[in-house]
Amino acid sequence: MTSTDGCLKKKGQYSVKSAYWIAREQVMGNFLTSTSSGNPYQPLWKKLWKSRVPGKVQICAWRAINNILPTRQQLVHKGYLGPTNCLFCTEALETTGHVFCHCPTAKETFAASSITLQVSSLPSFVFKEWMLDQALHLSSDQFEKVLMHIWALWKNRNSKLWSNTAQSAQAIMLSSFTWHGNYLSAQKVQLQDSVVKPNKHWAPPSQNRVKINVDGAFLPSQNIGGMGGVIRREDGSFVACFAKPVNFSSSPKQVELLAIKFGIDLLQQLNLQYVLVESDCQVAIKEVYSDDFDLSEDANILEDIQQGKNVVQAVGFIFAPRTANTVAHKLAVVALESNTDKVWIDQAPVHILDALYFDCNHLP
Ligand SMILES: [Zn+2]
Repeated sequence: MTSTDGCLKKKGQYSVKSAYWIAREQVMGNFLTSTSSGNPYQPLWKKLWKSRVPGKVQICAWRAINNILPTRQQLVHKGYLGPTNCLFCTEALETTGHVFCHCPTAKETFAASSITLQVSSLPSFVFKEWMLDQALHLSSDQFEKVLMHIWALWKNRNSKLWSNTAQSAQAIMLSSFTWHGNYLSAQKVQLQDSVVKPNKHWAPPSQNRVKINVDGAFLPSQNIGGMGGVIRREDGSFVACFAKPVNFSSSPKQVELLAIKFGIDLLQQLNLQYVLVESDCQVAIKEVYSDDFDLSEDANILEDIQQGKNVVQAVGFIFAPRTANTVAHKLAVVALESNTDKVWIDQAPVHILDALYFDCNHLP
């Protein structure tokens, strides 16, 4: 029995922190005392413990590599008599290798994240060997993403088991990248003195809030426009988006205000509250905040925005540079070239996936 098991049993409760330090000390101890003739897994352990991911992610991966995560196959060894199949594809035996490599959910998650995984050349699949291959061939950054995915897939598997809720592969990928981004920027803030700069890239809303980014595209020669908007949660996950053509408009600012108004309408329909509205049009944001908009040519739109603002409990309207508003911009361009209104809920359309991933990978 390893000391990790001992720690598990004595306390009756799994303590991430203690197991983390035990594992780390064991492995780092071996690593430091043994020479190159020793452990063939050294490159794996070294890369694992040096990775810039939260400690609980490291320990989850360490347990998976050592095949001590309580998968159903593992539990059978401890006398478990229940079903042993995978909770997602329901046919295969739930092993560590299945959960993280062979299950369609895992394959889709890795495929969505564009990590080039190493294919094991061994005749029979061993998860530990597979991880060693990744450690040897992937860059540190890519390897960290693999670790984040392992954690997110395990978390998703547990919520399927305990509360019968599961995320799509796309959502697993986005939330694990967002969490990683948040973790890295938190580390950075601890290292440097934080200097407040306007965000060059998209920033998620604070806790329990949603953010809507809106944008308008305008074609002055034809007086037509297109508006787009995307709603996301604090973890960067996608809620909904729209692309709506504007058949007649007098100015780019007007299209932008219409995008804000339509965005607020959509938030109301979805029953969302505590909202941050972000636009890359400074004039539009200024007008929304102005007390006296009667003289504005867009007074009626501004009035609608004021009313909607109270319903969705908008916490603010803020300006963001173009580079932080790329998803909404793409949608506005789509709208300009289209003649029907489009709204997507829960599942993002394919043409904005790149921009969504980009935002999650470039958190400030
Ligand atoms: Zn499966």
